[in-house]
Amino acid sequence: MKRIVIKVGSAVLTQDNNIAKERMLNLVSLIAEVKKKYDVILVTSGAVAAGYSALKLDKSKQIGKKTLAAAGQPILMASYKKKFDIYNIDTAQILLTEDDFDSRKGTKMFQEIINALLENDIVPIVNENDITSTPEQLFGDNDQLSANVAYATDSDILIILSDIDGYYDKNPKEHNDAKIYKALNHIPKDALNDNFTPSNPFATGGIVTKLKAADFLLKRNKKMFLCNGFDLSTAKSFLVDDEHILGTLFTNNTKVD
Ligand code: ADP
Repeated sequence: MKRIVIKVGSAVLTQDNNIAKERMLNLVSLIAEVKKKYDVILVTSGAVAAGYSALKLDKSKQIGKKTLAAAGQPILMASYKKKFDIYNIDTAQILLTEDDFDSRKGTKMFQEIINALLENDIVPIVNENDITSTPEQLFGDNDQLSANVAYATDSDILIILSDIDGYYDKNPKEHNDAKIYKALNHIPKDALNDNFTPSNPFATGGIVTKLKAADFLLKRNKKMFLCNGFDLSTAKSFLVDDEHILGTLFTNNTKVD
């Protein structure tokens, strides 16, 4: 079976400083459907927001953020488990850092774990292990983590679910006339050097880290699809029905208009 990685960001998973449970349920229901066709690896944010529901620490401070992540990771996983249980799907937790991709031995180890989980029909749920790691050991955002996971697990495509319909020629939240790209085979010049533009207090990346993820995958002849995680109909059409209605597909197999 082909493999895919689905990455969901804080913009989709959190609302009012908490886990957006209904959106999480919609995501899990999409995964249950997509799983009939693909092996699915989920990369998820949301630990800090989940932690914030249990204790109010200052997440702008490093220790506060890490403590929230430590408290929140099990809450996040419990929340997922409750929803996956509805579909009788088992899940596993994998926490990784950038360091894990550095050595062939380390990469091989988690590759084998992910293989074994998928062979046993278990959905691996991956997050960055930022709790006791130093900034140098971390990607710092799940967009780049998920691109590395997609490549290391030889997945067909990375699906990034965010709070926008795709990648635009300018920020659609600030410009009414922004135009969406349907497909791209390269990242526009200078776009990788733009400022970070996360859209909510728990988001870390903004569009730049998504473009870095796309760039990483394009250079390795892999694909990425950026689409809306609030309304999952685009992702569903793309994955279940092979129809590209909305969303931006980054692929080498296309001519750019
Ligand atoms: P997530 O939490 O899903 O990772 P982010 O908030 O980090 O999401 O990043 C998505 C945001 O990037 C969008 O909500 C949008 O405001 C911003 N953005 C800036 N420039 C663009 C652009 N050219 N196209 C699309 N989104 C953009």
